[in-house]
Amino acid sequence: MESKAFKQHLLQELYAPFKNCTQCPLGTLGRTNIVWGEGDPDASLMLIGEGPGADEDAQGRPFVGRSGKLLTKTIEGLGIKREEVFIANIVKCRPPGNRAPTTLESSICMTLFLFNQIKIVRPKIICTLGNSPLQALLGADMKITKTRGTVQDWQGFKLIPTYHPAYILRNPPALKTFVADLAFVIEQLAAS
Ligand code: SF4
Repeated sequence: MESKAFKQHLLQELYAPFKNCTQCPLGTLGRTNIVWGEGDPDASLMLIGEGPGADEDAQGRPFVGRSGKLLTKTIEGLGIKREEVFIANIVKCRPPGNRAPTTLESSICMTLFLFNQIKIVRPKIICTLGNSPLQALLGADMKITKTRGTVQDWQGFKLIPTYHPAYILRNPPALKTFVADLAFVIEQLAAS
């Protein structure tokens, strides 16, 4: 079992050769910072979103804008501190105009970084936020409306999809479901 410090070292080694990454088109489309992800390198829970927005691009940190604040408030309301989880996105650079990443961009970036982040952190549970990470990991036929709040499998890891917090900001009535899904994630963590 690797220590937290060793896992942190492995993550730094993963990022180090790609400080100015241009391995996919998003590397040359105006990003300010690469947003690798952050949190406990030995976390039991990994939260995965789509990609950095304007605030994340400016600060180089994931989920720090309005959506991120809602996500942090929700997990902390359920008794989990933000620094106890690992938070990442399927692409590490902001797509211009907040468009969704293309399949090519997602596939290149995940192969280089996200899959390795998952293998280094080895969380007990992966929680995907919104359709993009769900479909990027489990296939284009997966639908958030059908799979949210259920336990799926990604390469032997338990994966539980829920909505993206940006969707909750646009559709406040869905907050109850979002909180219930994250409460289920935490229940499953306790049982793992
Ligand atoms: S999105 Fe990922 S693969 Fe593409 S340039 Fe950024 S870090 Fe590199």
